[in-house]
Amino acid sequence: MLPATVDPFPGETVRSLYIRLVERNSLTTGELWTAFRKMQQGLPLRTTPEVVPRLVEQLAGLPDGWFGRDDTERRLFIRCIHSGWAHERCRECSPLPTPLTMCRRCTGGQRVEGQSRSGAFCGHHRRWHYGGRDDEVVLASRFLRAERCLTGPLWSRGIGLDTGELELACELLSTYRELTDGDVASSDAAERLRDFYPEAVQLTAFLTEPSAQAFLNNTHIGCLPVVALIEASVAAVDSRSPSRLKDIREVFQTSGRDARVYAAASTMVRHGRSIAVGELGTRVRGSGPRLRAVFLRHSDARRPSSARQQRSPRRR
Ligand SMILES: [Zn+2]
Ligand SMILES: [Zn+2]
Repeated sequence: MLPATVDPFPGETVRSLYIRLVERNSLTTGELWTAFRKMQQGLPLRTTPEVVPRLVEQLAGLPDGWFGRDDTERRLFIRCIHSGWAHERCRECSPLPTPLTMCRRCTGGQRVEGQSRSGAFCGHHRRWHYGGRDDEVVLASRFLRAERCLTGPLWSRGIGLDTGELELACELLSTYRELTDGDVASSDAAERLRDFYPEAVQLTAFLTEPSAQAFLNNTHIGCLPVVALIEASVAAVDSRSPSRLKDIREVFQTSGRDARVYAAASTMVRHGRSIAVGELGTRVRGSGPRLRAVFLRHSDARRPSSARQQRSPRRR
């Protein structure tokens, strides 16, 4: 055990705890790693504490197996054979979310990385904490609503901060904003996530509702209607108009069941806007299959064999 220990945070990664131990004991990451290599033969030259969680536990004064304890609660939901292909958290197959820096106010100013059921906004302190940031958020109530949606319905559908859907939603929303208002969004994905978080969460939630999923899944529906409806959804979310979203939901509901009624349904949309491909749709027209695949991705069933192969590198 090292002279000074640190208390772990729930879901904290091995690397995060290792770095905090190093800092607490006024060492460098390389110095402690050299000590590790003397204690245990065959360790790589590069500092890789994640390969020796037991050693980190010992030095931190944690009980044996602290890093290996049951973490099913913190995993993303997944469809696999163990739950009869329903979305559940499975001890065997569910992935842990990508490590995320926790809110600095919650950690007493320390940089801590954890893997838990969480988004990028701390509702207690109203701070944005993605990627090591500690930014004040002005529209806190909208961010709080997004945070609750992400860790609630979206998480239960298997969608987390870094599973791809939110990134694509941010891309669509920022392109739309650029085409309509001329606002050029940041090219940095992390900044775009902060700039479009409430809208991206809402768009993702909308496009992963059962009716939208039935529409996207219907192989009789071509890419053009898919692009047109996704564009209409982006515009509706951006306009913050619940009635426009409701209209699109109706089109999803009627045409998801039967592709033939799509044409009829799309002309039913009110507010003088029929569903046709506009500027955003023209821009992303070639990416129809990708849009479809990303917003359907979370509903893919996990095969047990591939799950077993992916099990080892999951904890970082
Ligand atoms: Zn399973
Ligand atoms: Zn906080």
